[in-house]
Amino acid sequence: MANPLYDTLFARHAGRDAAFLHLVDGRTLSHDAFLRMAARLAHALRGAGLGPGDRLAAQVPKSAEALVVYAACVQAGIVFLPLNTAYTPDEVSYFVTDSGAGLLLCDPAQADSLRPVAKAAGAVLMTLDAEGGGSLPDAARGLPESFETTPRGGDDLAALLYTSGTTGRSKGAMLTQENLLSNARVLAEYWRFTARDVLLHALPIFHTHGLFVATNTVLMAGGAMILQPRFDIDAVIAALPRATAMMGVPTFYTRLLDDPRLTRDLVAHMRLFTSGSAPLLAETHAAFEARTGHRILERYGMTETNMTTSNPYEGARRAGTVGFPLPGVELRITDPESGAEVAQGAVGMLEVRGPNVFRGYWNMPEKTAEEMRGDGFFITGDLGRVDARGYVTIVGRIKDVVISGGYNIYPREVEMVLDDQPGVLESAVVGVPHPDMGEVPVAILVPEAGATPDTQAIATATERALARFKRPRRIILVDALPRNTMGKVQKNALRAEYAGIFTAE
Ligand code: ATP
Ligand code: MG
Repeated sequence: MANPLYDTLFARHAGRDAAFLHLVDGRTLSHDAFLRMAARLAHALRGAGLGPGDRLAAQVPKSAEALVVYAACVQAGIVFLPLNTAYTPDEVSYFVTDSGAGLLLCDPAQADSLRPVAKAAGAVLMTLDAEGGGSLPDAARGLPESFETTPRGGDDLAALLYTSGTTGRSKGAMLTQENLLSNARVLAEYWRFTARDVLLHALPIFHTHGLFVATNTVLMAGGAMILQPRFDIDAVIAALPRATAMMGVPTFYTRLLDDPRLTRDLVAHMRLFTSGSAPLLAETHAAFEARTGHRILERYGMTETNMTTSNPYEGARRAGTVGFPLPGVELRITDPESGAEVAQGAVGMLEVRGPNVFRGYWNMPEKTAEEMRGDGFFITGDLGRVDARGYVTIVGRIKDVVISGGYNIYPREVEMVLDDQPGVLESAVVGVPHPDMGEVPVAILVPEAGATPDTQAIATATERALARFKRPRRIILVDALPRNTMGKVQKNALRAEYAGIFTAE
C-alpha cells in the first residue's frame, strides 16, 4: 500500500455518504465530505511549502476542521503535531521551535499573538476558522477536492505528540504509521466497533486518548462521532440517547453521577462506556453500575505506547484494574533496582513491547536510550502488578514514589486506604521534604459533598492498615485536587504547595 495509514483509516471511506461527524451546530458531515475537505487542505499545505516528513503544529479549537487537518497531514505525509488549546504563546513557541515545525495553524483569534511566535521559529502562520461556521483556511478555497496521496511506509512518522507534562516538561513522542495503525486495528476489534457505532466524543483531540484511541478506532470501523468541543454536562446528557458508546476520563463519570438526569433509561441502549488517562476510583465504578447497570471498562495507555491494556469486552471487567495487555502487546514487570522480572503478583516497573510502542523522543536521544531496553521493551515509568488471572493494576508512577527514611512508599497503596474512609471522596499522597526522614508522606483529602471527615479517626485507621513508615504525617482537607484537562492529578503542584510544611517549622 502506498500510504497504509491513509489508505486504511481514510481512503476506504471515499464516496460514502454515511455520517462521520455530528456537530454541535446540528450539521452532519459525511465521510466523503470530510475527505474532500482534507484533500483541499492537503493542497493548501503543499502550497505553503510543507513536504513529506515536515511538521505541522496546530493549536486549533476542537472541531471538524481540526480533524480535517489530521487527515490532510496523513494524506500528504506531513507529521501532525496537535497542541493543547490552553497553551500560552510562550508555550506554543517552545513546541514550534523544539519540533522545527514548518507551519503553525491557529484560530483567527490567536493570529496576532502567535504571528511573532511563528516568525521567530521560521514557520508559516495559517489560520483555521473553525468556530466561524466551519471553513478551511482561505488558502484552501477553490482547490481540488482530490489529492494524490503521498506514499509513506509503516516506519515513517505520522505524528509528533507531546506527553501531558504531568511529571515534568512534555516530551515529543515520535509515532509511526504502524504504531497508530496496529492500535486502531486491535481496538476496533477488541471493543467490537462497527459502522453502526456512534461515539460520544467529548475528549480533547490534542491528546492520544481523544485523537487516536477514539478517532482512529471509529475511522477503522467506519462509524460516526458526536463531536462536542468539551465535556459539557447538558450537551452530554442531551446527546447520550443518540450514541452507542462513550470514551471518557474518570471526571466525566463523577460529573455524570452528580447529575440526577443520569438514569438507567437514559443509557439503557448504550453498549460501551470506557475510562482511561487517570485511575478510576472503585467507588465511581460501583456507583455507575448501581445507577445505570453498566460496568465501565477501564483501560490504560500513554502517549508513547498508545492504548496498551484493556479490561475485556466480554468477561469480567474488574474495578481498580486496567485489564490485560492488548493482543500483540507484551508486558513485563521488573524490579527498579536490578531490572530483573519480579515474582508473580509483586509490584515493579511496567515495561511494554509491541507494534504500539513509539520510535523515541524527538530530539532526546539520551532520554530515549535510557527508557528503551536493548530487547525492545520500553520502560513506561508506571508501577504496577499483575494478578494470578493476568489483570494489570497500576499502582502509581515511579516519580511519585516517596522515599522515607530509606523505605519506598507507593502513594496509591496509601490513597486506597484513605479513599475507603467515611466522608472521603478522594485523596492524593505526596512526599514532602523532611529534615530527618528525607521525605515523608502527606495526605491531601477531598471530602464527599456535605461531609466533614474526622481526620483523627482517619489517622487511627491508617495505623491499623499501614506500616508506620507509610502512614501520612499530615492530613490536609481541600475542596478539590488540582487536575489537568485529562483529569490527571497534578502531583507536582501539590508537592510544591506543601514543600515547606516540615522544613519551615
Ligand atoms: P508526562 O509523561 O509528560 O509526565 P503523562 O505521563 O501524564 O505526562 P500521558 O502520556 O498523557 O502523559 O499519560 C500517560 C500516563 O497516564 C500513564 O503513564 C499513566 O501514568 C496514566 N494513566 C493512563 N491511564 C491510566 C489508568 N487507567 N489508570 C491509571 N493511570 C493511567
Ligand atoms: Mg508519561
